[in-house]
Amino acid sequence: MSKAKVRTRFAPSPTGYVHIGNIRSAIFPYLIAKNAGGKFILRIEDTDRARFVADAEKVLEDVMLWLGLQWDEGPVVGGPFAPYHQTERQDIYIKWAQKLIDKGLAYADPYSAEELQKMREEADANKRPFVYREHRPENPPEWKVGMPLRFKQTDLKSWHWHDAVMGDLSAGPEALDDFILIKSDGLPTYNFAHIVDDAEMETTHTTRGVEYVSSTPNYLALYEALELTPPIFVSFPHILRPDGKKKLGKRDGAKSVTEYREEGYLPEAMLNFLATLGWNDGTEQEIFTMAELMDKFEIGRIQRSGARFDENKLIWMNGQWIRRLPVEELYTQSEGFWPASSGTWVGPDLPAYKKQILGLMQDRLKTLGDLRTGTDYFFADPAVDLQMMTGDKKLKSFSEAELADLLQRTVTKLNDTEWTSEKIQDSLNELLVETGKKPVQLFSLIRIALTFAPFSPALNETMVVLGKNVVLARLNRAIEALTSD
Ligand code: GLU
Repeated sequence: MSKAKVRTRFAPSPTGYVHIGNIRSAIFPYLIAKNAGGKFILRIEDTDRARFVADAEKVLEDVMLWLGLQWDEGPVVGGPFAPYHQTERQDIYIKWAQKLIDKGLAYADPYSAEELQKMREEADANKRPFVYREHRPENPPEWKVGMPLRFKQTDLKSWHWHDAVMGDLSAGPEALDDFILIKSDGLPTYNFAHIVDDAEMETTHTTRGVEYVSSTPNYLALYEALELTPPIFVSFPHILRPDGKKKLGKRDGAKSVTEYREEGYLPEAMLNFLATLGWNDGTEQEIFTMAELMDKFEIGRIQRSGARFDENKLIWMNGQWIRRLPVEELYTQSEGFWPASSGTWVGPDLPAYKKQILGLMQDRLKTLGDLRTGTDYFFADPAVDLQMMTGDKKLKSFSEAELADLLQRTVTKLNDTEWTSEKIQDSLNELLVETGKKPVQLFSLIRIALTFAPFSPALNETMVVLGKNVVLARLNRAIEALTSD
């Protein structure tokens, strides 16, 4: 196959929120296609009407675009094989189903739900797996929409196939059954529809989770019956819980991609993290840009064994990405993450001020959400909390009068200081010598008096950003609180 002919697809079912595993199933085929200069298709597998969630597709598309996974064909953008929603492709499935009926390879399932249930219970009671083909009706009625249509397995043989990730695989005839092609609601099952669509859409690689491997013999039988050449199968390893013991489930702490986004994870970090969940380039490199991923992604380096989901690694990566981004870019992404007080700030140029703050905070942010909780004091005077000063571990040995005196000396010193970070640092150092206090004591006191926050960036730089007037006013407020009774 010429590389440019590579066509991959992401085929989500809009049945709920987008979890980590769903979206990794979009990233890998995207990278396979882009690495080859091929096309990436988005197809919406919306045939399960009972589990359909109305806004799930929109959320999913937003998440994909946020991560930079623009599809070449699919909803919104269209393409040569439109429509890309399975519910709009019913005629196509019926046409392919008719081919099978004509060849005697599909038949109407005449049983009622109760009858089927009874057969299942009997199999259970005999401790045997339920196999439909053992109950295949001798003279099935003519099939009409409204009845389930089943595939007729005519050749009960062992299947051998190759999976580009999992290697050579095989399964015996017990894996084969007369599965449903078209349900009684007239819509196709996944088992049938994805094969028809992958063929119609000229998909070269069928990419999906490893959980589909056990059904592959049934798919292979169907490919043969439809006289289709199967695509290259690419099965992705499971995503495991942090302890590596089980598949990651909804209850194991992984949030939906939207939740991570709302907490202030950068799309670059999320993409990087997910692309390396079960894939590496063979080196120790951990930080990859989209361009590098597109360049380096190889199916051969997708791992077979499960990949552990480690949220701490995601947090670390997010921090790495926050530090890498130019402040301008970080500023654009920071929209929506600032504290409410930023809206009431009275200075002249809010964007420039926010960029200054970002420059200061960049090295210490884990998520953009930290801006909301950790930058309030840049925009509004924090409430004076006497206890925070007097009760601080490093300051406990000082009386209120001593603390007030230290702050007073600071005010006097800073009053005569030129307002640059170097000059402020010089003054702070002089104060240390003059007062004979330790940096952890004096600087903690000043920091608390200025911010009343548990953390802040370097004191001198914070002071530059806050401005001289604000700094002196806040120190004076703290002195007042310490000296009034
Ligand atoms: N609609 C299937 C799912 O969401 C897609 C599996 C596949 O990619 O073929 O699991």
